[in-house]
Amino acid sequence: MAFRDPFGLMDVRYTNEESKNYVNSLRENSPKFDKAMKGLEDDKSILVIIGIGNTAETSCGAIRRTGGCTSLMLNPRAGYQREVRIALDPEGLREDVAASPDIYFDMQTVVAHEVYGHAVPYRKGGICDDAGVMPCSVKRENTIREDAGLPRRPRY
Ligand SMILES: [Zn+2]
Repeated sequence: MAFRDPFGLMDVRYTNEESKNYVNSLRENSPKFDKAMKGLEDDKSILVIIGIGNTAETSCGAIRRTGGCTSLMLNPRAGYQREVRIALDPEGLREDVAASPDIYFDMQTVVAHEVYGHAVPYRKGGICDDAGVMPCSVKRENTIREDAGLPRRPRY
C-alpha cells in the first residue's frame, strides 16, 4: 500500500514501502544515519521525497542508470520550498556494480550517498557535490559506511 501523509506532518515522504524499507535498514545499522534522518524528519523547512525509479519525480537526467540520484530544488509551485527528491534504483545498482567492480555497493550504500551525502548538507544550506576523485558526497558516504560496518568507497 502506498504511504499517505494527508496532513503533511512528515518532512520525509516515501512514494512506496520499498524505498522506506531501504532507508530503514540503513537506519538500523548506522546510529549516525538514524540521527540524521530524525533531523530531516523534524525539519519543516525542507521536504524530502524518496522513491523507487523516478516515482519521486527527480530532475536527474542520467546518462546511464545508476543506483541512486538526488535532485535539490526550490519548488516554484510550493512557495519556493526547498525540496530534495531522491530516486533509488535496484536495477541501476547492478549497472554501478558492473561499471566499478572494485567498489562495494548495495542499496544501503546508495541510501548513504544520496541521503547523507547530498540531502543532509542541503538541509543545512550547503551543496555537497560529486566533483573530483574523492568528492564531498563520497567522504560523507564513507562516514556512514564506516558506522554501518560496510567497506570504504575508495573513489567516486
Ligand atoms: Zn552523488
